[in-house]
Amino acid sequence: MSKQTIAIMGAMPEEVAPILEAIGEYETVEFAKNRYYKANYKGVDVVIAYSKIGKVFSTLTATTMIEHFGATKLLFSGVAGAISPELKVGDIVVATKLSQHDLDITAFGHPFGYVPEGAVYVEADKELIECSKRVASSMGKEVKEGIIATGDQFVADETRKNWIGKEFDAVALEMEGGSVAVVCDSLNIPFFILRSISDAADMDASFSFDEFLESSAIISAEFIIKMLDEIIG
Ligand code: SAH
Repeated sequence: MSKQTIAIMGAMPEEVAPILEAIGEYETVEFAKNRYYKANYKGVDVVIAYSKIGKVFSTLTATTMIEHFGATKLLFSGVAGAISPELKVGDIVVATKLSQHDLDITAFGHPFGYVPEGAVYVEADKELIECSKRVASSMGKEVKEGIIATGDQFVADETRKNWIGKEFDAVALEMEGGSVAVVCDSLNIPFFILRSISDAADMDASFSFDEFLESSAIISAEFIIKMLDEIIG
């Protein structure tokens, strides 16, 4: 079997710090105006990075992890705004599919989130989702699965949130998953997007985000480390 390299990415330093802490020792490599952390974890090569916020930076980082650092699987760990009222701060969501809620050429009769030769939804890897179910049950944790919608906007508005929920059947929203999904799907790399809720994408979202970013990022990172252990076996 060819050698595997597992990429773990987040968008912000807070999302990646607990992962680096769990990994312990790593080497820092600068590339494309960002820092990538390389390590050997229990005999497997891993590369870790936070991309900076949004679709463009996350596209760059995911592509770099695969094309430059040789990642063969990609796990994303981070926080998100809840759309589903069932999701509360600290809850975990596993993305089944991802879409771009701010992609709009509807003036030409196309659906929201669609461009020719693209797709409204990109599916996450089924085996990694199955793996997350095993991890969840071993931790005794409830994990919700659903569609995550991505856009270059911090959503702090009930009307916008509800529109995204309805149009894309999404349970949560954030700013990187949809672009990472496009990269991994195009390059044939199995990927998994995990988010822990930091806010409800409503009027209070920025306050809730500031209060819960760190704790929710830790919840997500702890789950991702368990997944890494399960993948490595
Ligand atoms: N406070 C930060 C900005 C955070 S942007 C600063 O000032 O630098 C929000 C980040 O968390 C993004 O990476 C996004 O993926 C996620 N996120 C959490 N809640 C969100 C919401 N309500 N809308 C959009 N993205 C959200």
